[in-house]
Amino acid sequence: MRVLLVEDHERLGESLVEALNAALFTVDWVRSLENAAAFADLNPYDVVLLDLGLPDGDGLDLIRTWRASGRSTPVLVLTARGELNDRVRGLDDGADDYLVKPFELREMISRCRALLRRPGDMAPAVLRMGELEVDITTGAATFRGIPLALNRREQQLLLALVRRPGKVCSRAYLEGVLYDHAADPTLNALEVSVSRLRSALRASGLHDAIRTVRGVGYVFAGAAPHATY
Ligand code: CA
Repeated sequence: MRVLLVEDHERLGESLVEALNAALFTVDWVRSLENAAAFADLNPYDVVLLDLGLPDGDGLDLIRTWRASGRSTPVLVLTARGELNDRVRGLDDGADDYLVKPFELREMISRCRALLRRPGDMAPAVLRMGELEVDITTGAATFRGIPLALNRREQQLLLALVRRPGKVCSRAYLEGVLYDHAADPTLNALEVSVSRLRSALRASGLHDAIRTVRGVGYVFAGAAPHATY
């Protein structure tokens, strides 16, 4: 999952990036409203973490602009204590949730995950597709209870696909999940990761789980095991 972090406080920003990375999120960190707007226009984000007091203006103005233009990316507002009115206004203006500084990093991660939850998910810690289970907090996956050998990118990729079962994930979206703005992946880096993930799934008995949609992207087609006798 890819996060846009908008925070001008260096130390806080650093610790947020570190915590998000540890939780398998890919993060782009910007420090101004101007850059936040530019990055959001260029990249598909799953969640935006938005500080309100920024050097070039008020984060709420950005939310208003986004909502007015139909951008529905979930926004988690990070706000200073004592800005109660701002917080309330933030939610009125289209923010999805807020955290009051200082906050626990674990709390921030769990709020982010809550915003990513599929509608109707009651047990968000583990995504289940048939006998495939993916732990969204660690990225660890099992099929029929047996762990799959996946590296970090393969875990991120599987999570992104399993969150949208049956729906096509575009190449651009998946590349955004795997690589932050500073990364410079090779042209076929995504294919390599998909290929490795497919191998790991096959090795555990899950065949044809990821389908290629030519020229568009990939879709998680299902977690039915290949018939074995
Ligand atoms: Ca600030």
